[in-house]
Amino acid sequence: MSNSNRNKALSTINLADFEHQESEPSKAPLNLFDVDIWKGPMSEAVSWVVLQTTNKPQSSQLSQTKIGFVNANNLNISYSSRTLTEHYRKCDRVFADGSGVMLASRLTENSHSRLKHNINGTDMFPFLCDALEISGGSIYLLGADKGVAEQVAKNIKITNPKLEVAGFHDGYFSDDLSCRRAIKSINRSNPSILLVAMGTPMQEFWLDKYSNSLKVPVVMSVGGLFDFFANKVSRAPSLLRKMGLEWTWRLANEPKRMWRRYILGNPLFLFRVLKESFANKKSLHRTNISSTTQRLLKRSLDLVSACLGLILLSPLLLMIATAIMIESPGSPLYTQLRVGKNGKLFKFWKFRSMVTNAHQLRKTNDYKNDSAGGVLFKLRNDPRVTRIGHYLRRYSLDELPQLWNVVSGEMSLVGPRPALPEEVARYSEEDKARLKVLPGITCYWQVSGRSDLSFNQQIMLDKQYIDTCSFWTDIKILLRTLPAVLSGKGAY
Ligand code: UDP
Repeated sequence: MSNSNRNKALSTINLADFEHQESEPSKAPLNLFDVDIWKGPMSEAVSWVVLQTTNKPQSSQLSQTKIGFVNANNLNISYSSRTLTEHYRKCDRVFADGSGVMLASRLTENSHSRLKHNINGTDMFPFLCDALEISGGSIYLLGADKGVAEQVAKNIKITNPKLEVAGFHDGYFSDDLSCRRAIKSINRSNPSILLVAMGTPMQEFWLDKYSNSLKVPVVMSVGGLFDFFANKVSRAPSLLRKMGLEWTWRLANEPKRMWRRYILGNPLFLFRVLKESFANKKSLHRTNISSTTQRLLKRSLDLVSACLGLILLSPLLLMIATAIMIESPGSPLYTQLRVGKNGKLFKFWKFRSMVTNAHQLRKTNDYKNDSAGGVLFKLRNDPRVTRIGHYLRRYSLDELPQLWNVVSGEMSLVGPRPALPEEVARYSEEDKARLKVLPGITCYWQVSGRSDLSFNQQIMLDKQYIDTCSFWTDIKILLRTLPAVLSGKGAY
């Protein structure tokens, strides 16, 4: 890095501002394959890292800050390794390293929220050394071949004479004992930051295993960084870097080691990003239409289906009404006050399936409730049910007049079962969530066991419906309702 560039870097990193600098980025992180990637600029990234080293008590691993970098290769590995994904998820900050991640952001995010800064470790290192030098921090270099970290330490002495290099160690360990020995030496040297440069996923797994034993406030996994700063490997010319083609340079320099990573890995990464972007767009689409369009779609489905249902089923409705009146005197229809959306009471229509004074009989007789949970009242062998009523209930035909409730907008075809006011009076605050939407003729509970479910199970299923409701959910539930009704299971 040229001196003029470094001076520029230092002018943007004002340590006096550290205390006032809000370390949180203004934008939501980019989420790629479950990894949250920070989006801020280099100056903020470096300020934040140094702040972590000054903020925390040395020799305490309790509040250790973990920092990672992800490029297309790391994300490819993380895609198939849940352990690596979990590592990145445990990191306090993960920086976007390289053009692959920038491209992924371009493909998955809009221009507003898009990732604008490439924060790779190799670019960050000189800035970090400058900032640590000013803050009085110290650095430990762990990783790479024998002699490489030592060479980096020597080079730091030239570029940042006042920065304390607490120690260095190569990144090749034969066993656990040699790791423990290195950790002892790291802890003894008391660095404010430990850079681990063993390549992905080795460095991340190494940190997962040993970070609890490390008494260092900040640990950072940095890949092949030491090779560059020991002048062992040359970096791509800046034009290539600006064009996002640094990888072509690395491929040309180490084709044997890198061909898999870039020739196979880059298209694979692109494919996975596009796949994810497509899936996100689909789910975004689903959420977007959940507002006005979703409501309009639901209302149209309700209105058209209920009107059609009433017209097409009118001969059946007439037959049922006649049968009810022949069996027991009184109106074929039965109305009740039920609690609708937002607690609004409405008149709920049903075919009468019980004797006319059924409600009265429930009050005067000591019937045993068969509905688990106690809030609902359901009897398996209810003596108040008429013979025709028994069949109507078995095949849910008694609910058909509710098509009229749907036409009049008090109910929907799909939604939580409308409760009686006395049931709602016993609802907990949590149970009341089911009053947020229009009640329905059918819902998840209707297609998953119906009255066999306990009150709590019904509430859970209603909640599931409220959380996931969409036009397609309604269609799916309606399609599942028909076989559930025909089987007559759970209805009594
Ligand atoms: N390395 C190490 N220990 C190992 C294996 C590798 O210290 O057991 C070092 C290796 O010498 C090199 C770095 O890890 O310095 C791997 O660099 P790579 O180019 O793969 O990293 P990236 O491209 O991810 O930054």
